[in-house]
Amino acid sequence: MLAIHGGEPVRKDYLDYGKQWIDEDDIESVLMTLKSPMLTQGPMVEAFEQKVADYVGAKYAVAFSNGTAALHGAYYAAGIRCGDEVITTPITFVATSNCALYLGARPIFADIDNATYNLDPLKVEKLITERTKAIVPVDFTGQPADYEAFRKLADENNLVLIGDGAHSFGASFKGKRVGVQADMTMFSFHPVKPITTGEGGIIVTNSAEYYEKLRLFRSHGITKANIAENEGPWYYEMVDLGMNYRMTDIQAALGYSQLDKLEVFIERRREIAARYTAAFSKEEALVTPDQFQSSSSGWHLYMLRFVLDQLTVDRKNIFEALRAENIGVHVHYIPVHTQPYYQKLGYQKGICPIAEKWYEEVITLPIFPKMKEQDIDDVICAVLKVVNAFKKCLV
Ligand SMILES: *Cc1c(COP(=O)(O)O)cnc(C)c1O
Repeated sequence: MLAIHGGEPVRKDYLDYGKQWIDEDDIESVLMTLKSPMLTQGPMVEAFEQKVADYVGAKYAVAFSNGTAALHGAYYAAGIRCGDEVITTPITFVATSNCALYLGARPIFADIDNATYNLDPLKVEKLITERTKAIVPVDFTGQPADYEAFRKLADENNLVLIGDGAHSFGASFKGKRVGVQADMTMFSFHPVKPITTGEGGIIVTNSAEYYEKLRLFRSHGITKANIAENEGPWYYEMVDLGMNYRMTDIQAALGYSQLDKLEVFIERRREIAARYTAAFSKEEALVTPDQFQSSSSGWHLYMLRFVLDQLTVDRKNIFEALRAENIGVHVHYIPVHTQPYYQKLGYQKGICPIAEKWYEEVITLPIFPKMKEQDIDDVICAVLKVVNAFKKCLV
């Protein structure tokens, strides 16, 4: 597609929306594990778990093969079963609600807050029934959910609070790192996420009971601990139906090294976000993301919202125009309940009107620590170029 007015695009080469940052020390860490006797179930997974737990200030961490597996483990540990309901947001990756379906439970979608784009506690409260088992807020874009309100709702209604922190590793809520507010919190280490292990995920928790259950589920439901009748040193028992969701030592070695850089990564993401907000908040046709006062986002994503009333085109045209400028824009996310699979399950469009309207108006801008100053300038330049080209003439 041609750039605006058929002219030269703002960039010659395509700028991705997110990507990893791997240094020599990361490579060295992985090489050491490759040369060691254990590629999986060796020392690195435990070392990584301890390092993550210490970092967020939680007692325990259990690493998984990916974030989705970790979330599945948390839902299992929470005792979510057939017939239960799990309340979450539609503005998330499909994994958040899919994990409820894996266990035969029903995801219930509550609407988002129009300012923060996070799950709205007031909407959640209205949907709590005797079947509700858990609330799963997502720290969308890296901005922590309103954990104070959700903690209160969970305690009052005897529900498990599970945080989907796939975007928010390193973010903080009221002065504390994300990971200690919910009963269990998941972080993802996919390459676009705050730090990476290739594929990988983890659950942090302060509960010894959840910790044991997570470990059991991760490895086939097999245990060697607390066995009364012991037939011999080889003996183990499978006490529940688990999975093979183990992280390898190769992944953990990468994560262990990456974690040293998380603060620097997040600092850079904050700088990029601040530049975008400074450049775009002056534009009447643009809405920059609102930040919850007492929390500090990890800025995994930067969502730019367009005031379509002031523009001559819809989001699709804006999106295509930005791609034509070689800016790797995306849209996070299509409301989950509108996906064909969820439609087949009987979820109706219209149940989360704020989220559905919001979805029509947003675009994800590139944001990742390796972005150069020129990359940031290009994004700003392209957005302003496109917005100006499509502005309605208002008198
Ligand atoms: C990435 C992501 C997940 C799943 O993590 P994986 O590591 O990709 O399995 C879950 N929820 C959200 C909000 C995510 O962004």
